Amino acid sequence: MNSKHIETAAIRTQIERTQFLEHSNPLYLTSSYIFEDAEDMRASFADEKERNIYSRYSNPNSSEFVEKICQMEGAERGYAFATGMSAVFSTFAALLDSGDHIVSCQSIFGSTQTLFNNILPKWNISTSYFRINEIERIENLIQPNTKILYAESPTNPAVDILDLELLGNIAKKHNLIFIVDNCFATPYLQQPIKFGADLVIHSATKLIDGQGRVLGGVTVGNAELIQKIYLFSRNTGPALSPFNAWILSKSLETLPVRVEKHCDNALKTAKFLKNHDKVNFVKYPFLKSHPQHELAKKQMKFGGSIVAFEIKGGIDAGRNFLNSIKLLSLSANLGDTRSIVTHPASTTHAKLSEEDRLKTGISGGLIRISVGLEHAEDIINDLKQALK
Ligand SMILES: *Cc1c(COP(=O)(O)O)cnc(C)c1O
Repeated sequence: MNSKHIETAAIRTQIERTQFLEHSNPLYLTSSYIFEDAEDMRASFADEKERNIYSRYSNPNSSEFVEKICQMEGAERGYAFATGMSAVFSTFAALLDSGDHIVSCQSIFGSTQTLFNNILPKWNISTSYFRINEIERIENLIQPNTKILYAESPTNPAVDILDLELLGNIAKKHNLIFIVDNCFATPYLQQPIKFGADLVIHSATKLIDGQGRVLGGVTVGNAELIQKIYLFSRNTGPALSPFNAWILSKSLETLPVRVEKHCDNALKTAKFLKNHDKVNFVKYPFLKSHPQHELAKKQMKFGGSIVAFEIKGGIDAGRNFLNSIKLLSLSANLGDTRSIVTHPASTTHAKLSEEDRLKTGISGGLIRISVGLEHAEDIINDLKQALK
């Protein structure tokens, strides 16, 4: 089932049904599959047939989930992982050799930064960073051994926007593989392949599940690159479990309606914060005051579920604000039905020096809200009383 409409692809992309003709996709809890005879078994192992052999390689539930993401992102092929980080790690490990080099935006997910700074260097793979407002420096960072250009947009936690088309053009000019972590936007709001991305990665743990239940990840894009990632993964074992794949595939059916409501609530929350006298600034891509508002509107359907703002009074005011929150959750997740507030300077980014924190756009008073699906008035009222 191929549809140009993301909503339809998310619902109607399905694998073959069993003899029971289930309307909704069943759960395939099986670790392996049987062969008709010796010839069937030989041909299957020789990759002459596309079929399920063992659930570390593929499973009908993960295949359905991956196919939906491919349809939504406009990708040729993909592979599903147990977590977002296993998708990130396996993608880099499959594509890079010792001595290779990555050029990445500095504002990326914390564990991805740890991967680049502390883990990949064990195999002599190095990374150079550009800051969000230093796009013109990218070409100076590219070396003869650079293989990958990497970015997230919107960024975490400062909600900045990177020009994906510009990055795509730089990657093409220098023959780099352009990879985008599209987790914050979801395939409903933004399809990086349109702007030149070769691969798109998601942590499905966030808005794709959207209900805070399971971990998962996926990489989709160019078929040749995915073949390398697939062969790496089927031998190293980061596969998504059939149960989680079943949950995630079901979740995709409601992703467009959920995300639209998240965005609606987030815009209302951002507008409320913008006019508050205890707030220095608010960052939300679809607020006119966002420095990259026009770019956000070009790349994204709506503004996303994450709002960042700076409370007056620095790190202490940030901590006090968190202690005064009543309804919203203090939690490390995002993209849940439940709204979540975090204070990056004292939690996720506490290990960085203040200088490094400011480089990624994180001041002491910066608060990140993952706006959920509660009634917008209740979210705003909680923020209002906590700001007092
Ligand atoms: C959460 C997250 C990840 C990692 O995903 P896990 O499922 O937690 O492993 C990667 N990138 C971004 C942008 C994220 O928000």
